[in-house]
Amino acid sequence: RAMSSVSIPPPACLLKPLEAPFRYLFGPGPSNVPPRILAAGGRPIIGHMHPEMFEIMNDIKKGIQYAFQTENNMTIAMSGSGHTAMECAIFNTVEPGESVLVAINGIWGERVAEIAKRMGANVHTMVKAPGGYFTNQEIEQALAKHKPVLFFLTHGESSAGIAHPVDGIGDLCRQHNCLFLVDSVASLGGAPLYMDKQNIDILYTGSQKALNAPPGTAPISFNERACKKMSSRKTKPVSYLLDMTHLSNYWGCDGKPARIYHHTGPVSGFFALRESLAILAEKGLENSWRHHKEVAEYLYKGLEDLGLKLFVPDKSLRLPSVTTIAIPSGYDWREILAYLIKYHQMELTGGLGPSMGLVLRVGLMGYNCSKTNVDLVLLALADALKHCHKSKA
Ligand code: PMP
Repeated sequence: RAMSSVSIPPPACLLKPLEAPFRYLFGPGPSNVPPRILAAGGRPIIGHMHPEMFEIMNDIKKGIQYAFQTENNMTIAMSGSGHTAMECAIFNTVEPGESVLVAINGIWGERVAEIAKRMGANVHTMVKAPGGYFTNQEIEQALAKHKPVLFFLTHGESSAGIAHPVDGIGDLCRQHNCLFLVDSVASLGGAPLYMDKQNIDILYTGSQKALNAPPGTAPISFNERACKKMSSRKTKPVSYLLDMTHLSNYWGCDGKPARIYHHTGPVSGFFALRESLAILAEKGLENSWRHHKEVAEYLYKGLEDLGLKLFVPDKSLRLPSVTTIAIPSGYDWREILAYLIKYHQMELTGGLGPSMGLVLRVGLMGYNCSKTNVDLVLLALADALKHCHKSKA
């Protein structure tokens, strides 16, 4: 045998073909990606700085403006998952030592508080148990007390299954000279949200939920107020990769004649994101919102007929895209989830962060949102309840 210069052999696992089973992705994301979007992502790639790519990025920008209902020029897609947009929003609009107020009623507020603490912000939190929400009066009192430069709220709290009311909060933030940052990763396309009309200063989402694109890109938009705050910074954002001065140039938002290389964007991910935004544009936002609501109501009825209890009692607060079910008493939620994967090739999930051990979660988003899929979920759940172990207690 000839002597080899490498001492680490090729891994045996990689000499076998890739195996990725079919799954019904009926948890809180990622969702199944329809063939049209998969095909867009599978096209031969082009250079990230080619003029055709810039056209595609311009189309994406228009698609995000439509999906967010905003005219903001500073509208881009992050190269990265929803967390990239969370960090981009905080890193660029907050400077170390500044006060930030975070509403926590599930895991997403916890995460944003952690991100803001890490970059040296002075973080104040308002906390409710998962399923709870904040009144405008409570928010106004906290704004007056902590005088934050930024207030964070999750619109679609996917760990709790809440669609948080947004009306009036943007106005309160203006009165208190504070930016209003909203997370719509789990709600965009699934529940009404109007960035400009609702005076949201910074809004972000993810690609892998109701947009049905693969995970890995994240739309974000900043309005004039947010841009003013960013341009009056005294310090540079802690992250080079997420610095909006560079990203706004890469996305052609800074009015400069040329785009200069900053990083290599996920070309295939942008192809897929463009296609997903095209599908939303063809369907229409209002149709998409209505459709999610109708299918969610059909799901609620079916779950109740199975004897299951919805975790959020107030129907008007439920997030249409992600439904939380109280764990049926006597059952081990992990066993139910494992049963669904094993016998139904179906992913539902448990809770996350503070809702862990409290809920099962069903996400039917975008392409996955249909009564046929509700029927599949209900059949699978009925089967799991019949076959999983139930304690007598
Ligand atoms: N915010 C919300 C409301 C989410 O549901 C998620 C994803 N589950 C995120 C943020 C984070 O997104 P990602 O996993 O793409 O980083």
